[in-house]
Amino acid sequence: MARSLAGPSSLKDLIESLRVPHCEVGSVYSLVSKRELPLDSLTVPGDVLEVRGPRPCRLTSPSFLCDGHLGKLALLMRVMGFDTAWDNSWSEPRMARRGVNENRVVLTRSLSLLKRSTMDNAMLIRSDDPDEQAREVVCRFLLADQVRMFGRCSKCNGLPREVAKADVASRIPPKTAKWLDTYYLCRDCDQLFWEGTHVTALRRRVEKILARCPTSDRPDPS
Ligand SMILES: [Zn+2]
Repeated sequence: MARSLAGPSSLKDLIESLRVPHCEVGSVYSLVSKRELPLDSLTVPGDVLEVRGPRPCRLTSPSFLCDGHLGKLALLMRVMGFDTAWDNSWSEPRMARRGVNENRVVLTRSLSLLKRSTMDNAMLIRSDDPDEQAREVVCRFLLADQVRMFGRCSKCNGLPREVAKADVASRIPPKTAKWLDTYYLCRDCDQLFWEGTHVTALRRRVEKILARCPTSDRPDPS
């Protein structure tokens, strides 16, 4: 794509004018000078640039923040055990601040949020489908072998703990109490969990997502 400019521009501004946020740029290579260019360098007339997306990278302590439209993705990330903040009442400035302050990767479909100068630790979610969105995140950050099913409360992101059945007996539906003995409580919101039929369905969903993701000992299957 050829681009005419009124004057010199930073590569970051040039690329963002083409609707590609800077956090989605992995590298910029000049086919004229045969070298990689930093995003803050200025454009050179006649240059031909090759822009590549970010390479998958491993996060040592994965934590995320989903924008207000990604509630179903947030739920899946929590089900897979990843620390994931989400609140659909947050404004974009608040999400940007919280992402930086808490060192969370911001997951969003909003280009305007990603174009904020502080949004270096962020990812553009491309799909409309929550399972495909989760696959995008797991593949990008090589998370497949860090999944810990039901490691987070799907309601509030708190940490669940196992509780004695007798301590929560009054909250268990009688039919469930007859066949199940293991229960969990969220430490933060007191939500009670158990492995019912919905859990089996969720496990199957996550297995399908992970089957299409690379791990450290399995190359990208796509
Ligand atoms: Zn909770």
